Amino acid sequence: MQAGDNKVVLIHYTLTSDSGEVLDSSDGREPLAYLHGFGNIIPGLENALAGKKAGDKLKVSIPPAEAYGLREDGLVQEVPRAAFGGAPDLEVGMQFQAQTPEGIRVVTIVGIEGDNITLDGNHPLAGETLHFAVEVTEVREPTDEELAHGHVHGEGGHHH
Ligand code: ZN
Repeated sequence: MQAGDNKVVLIHYTLTSDSGEVLDSSDGREPLAYLHGFGNIIPGLENALAGKKAGDKLKVSIPPAEAYGLREDGLVQEVPRAAFGGAPDLEVGMQFQAQTPEGIRVVTIVGIEGDNITLDGNHPLAGETLHFAVEVTEVREPTDEELAHGHVHGEGGHHH
């Protein structure tokens, strides 16, 4: 069976950055399971997997536009420390969820200078070209429930 729309695809993967740093890997875990055609994974990887079957291995480099998007300077802003109210000690690298006009965004503290806190609303991997080494371990039909939910249940997928 080939990976394509409405198929459940299970993959082992290693994700490395342009500089060769391993950012994420399914090593030592269950394979990642996703439902093809539902935007469960980044578009560039989903496109690269179309037509693949169990046992296929591929290496693919995905530009930012097909991964987590380009960095937007407008998403970096300074806010006063008071904006955090009673938040615990603030440190560079801390992440918060913020309500924005585009929905919930994760923002990261990227700088602290006195009472000025610099926040970055870009995805941590925005602007990065991502390099995936992938092995397809299984392609199967989804259950009716998985199709209705738009994601995979059980091992490697959602538990709820
Ligand atoms: Zn579900």
